Amino acid sequence: MSNGGNMYVSTLESCLSFLRQNDVFLMMTQRAWSRSRRSSAPSASQPSNGNSEMRLLLVEDDPMIGASVRKGLRQDGFAVDWVNDGEAAELAIGQGVYDLMLLDLGLPKKSGLAVLKSLRARGSDLPVLVVTARDAVSERISGLDAGADDYVVKPFDLDELAARIRAVLRRRAGRGDPLLRYGKLEFNPASREVRYDGAAVSLSARELALLEAFLDRPGAVLSRAQLEEKLYGWTQEVESNTVEVYIHGLRKKLGADFIRNVRGVGYMLSGPQ
Ligand code: CA
Repeated sequence: MSNGGNMYVSTLESCLSFLRQNDVFLMMTQRAWSRSRRSSAPSASQPSNGNSEMRLLLVEDDPMIGASVRKGLRQDGFAVDWVNDGEAAELAIGQGVYDLMLLDLGLPKKSGLAVLKSLRARGSDLPVLVVTARDAVSERISGLDAGADDYVVKPFDLDELAARIRAVLRRRAGRGDPLLRYGKLEFNPASREVRYDGAAVSLSARELALLEAFLDRPGAVLSRAQLEEKLYGWTQEVESNTVEVYIHGLRKKLGADFIRNVRGVGYMLSGPQ
């Protein structure tokens, strides 16, 4: 692309960024309205994945990455606002409407690390997930030491990113109500401990990944492909019977009836017992 094209893209991005920032009051109003509506009359049509009310601030100067991350996270049910530089990030954070910030460290105007440091210096405990370049171990360490909750390394998988965001949000939410319960099952997101009927259950990382997928969407039928995606990152290859192997493991430890087959569709939790 020529310089003229780059300037055009950057001007367009600045305009969009300005519009997004000026939408913040509208967002706040809508959010307050939806909260008050929910508390007075719970809606049965709430999506079950629990992400719907989570508003994320995406700070990313690469137009391609920013666009695909925003699209991917929106498909995962998050509300996402996107800004392109460190100063715009600080303006946006100042509105106080975000549940989590996804922060690239290499940014124009003010570095991600400087944004994070001044955020923590002001006493904010906004959950922050930093995005670092591959092999930049020192960046990851500085990010975590400056108060980031977690990090992802470019190039990252969008499903893994969404899972890490959920994990950070769960850990933060875990302060008030640490346990996730489903029938006789208790899951502690912070310690990763599972208990069934009061007894500790030892699950492998992969079994836990599948269990979390079910607990994220209780009542939903998950296809084998959806479950296979949860296993990527844990195994190099997902073989044709991999999901069955871990489902078998979960049933062995949690009871044969805990997860049921939905013929031709996938698997679901069998209902609180
Ligand atoms: Ca960057």
